[in-house]
Amino acid sequence: MFYIGCHLSPSAGYRAMGETALSIGATTFQFFTRNPRGSKAKAIDPADMAALRALLKEHGFGPLVAHAPYTINPCSKDERTREFARLTLADDLERMEYLPGQFYNFHPGSHTGQGTEKGIELIAEALNSVLKPEQQTTVLLETMAGKGTEVGRRFEELREIIDRVELKDKLGVCLDTCHVSDAGYDIAGDLDGVLTEFDRVIGLSRLHAIHTNDSLNPVGAHKDRHARIGEGYLGKDAFERIINHPALRNLPFVLETPNELPGYAEEIALLKSLRTD
Ligand code: FE
Ligand code: FE
Ligand code: ZN
Repeated sequence: MFYIGCHLSPSAGYRAMGETALSIGATTFQFFTRNPRGSKAKAIDPADMAALRALLKEHGFGPLVAHAPYTINPCSKDERTREFARLTLADDLERMEYLPGQFYNFHPGSHTGQGTEKGIELIAEALNSVLKPEQQTTVLLETMAGKGTEVGRRFEELREIIDRVELKDKLGVCLDTCHVSDAGYDIAGDLDGVLTEFDRVIGLSRLHAIHTNDSLNPVGAHKDRHARIGEGYLGKDAFERIINHPALRNLPFVLETPNELPGYAEEIALLKSLRTD
């Protein structure tokens, strides 16, 4: 099964989001758990969640990827900002239990001048305070482009976070193709080399989702500007290799490209046409 989809909004409800995904040919999707700028989350409607669960099952969807708001920063130098991040993570993980067995992805954070090591320490601390042995969600650290003081640009940094977390079986990685290229990994030119490095440093068994984005900038640019598939420096051929690679092909692929729904439908159709079965 090819699990391919895009970022969608739950603003019209969760079941409605599943129907939108179906209408554009998606077999997975990603959604923000709350406003991406990080405001208060809407109350959960258990009936709506149950209706989405039924739809996912009926249509054989792959695992979904929830995305934390961009604005939380568990490794800020400001304690109030860190506290807000911990509260948001904890609240989101509670809400995720209405959709058991999915992924919850977040940006590890920006160390805001304290240095990468301190950032790593604070991120692990936050995770240790919110992860619960009974939770059914796997939390994913996203590979980052390395703009500003972002932590997570090197695979080693993610590995160090994982090493410091107690409930490691609740933790994995989401690889963003635009971000890793921007971070300096030549995923378009040397996919096997990058995956070998990922496996050596983190372990491919921890890789659970792919953010499928082209990049407006060349390898190592540290810019984080997403492009539509084939309209950036990675190019269509690179994505043909990525979605068919034996180590990746069973993972959920999520588009975060600059598109409205019709554009996403076209991109999903394009990637399906490049898939070999
Ligand atoms: Fe992200
Ligand atoms: Fe991403
Ligand atoms: Zn990005």
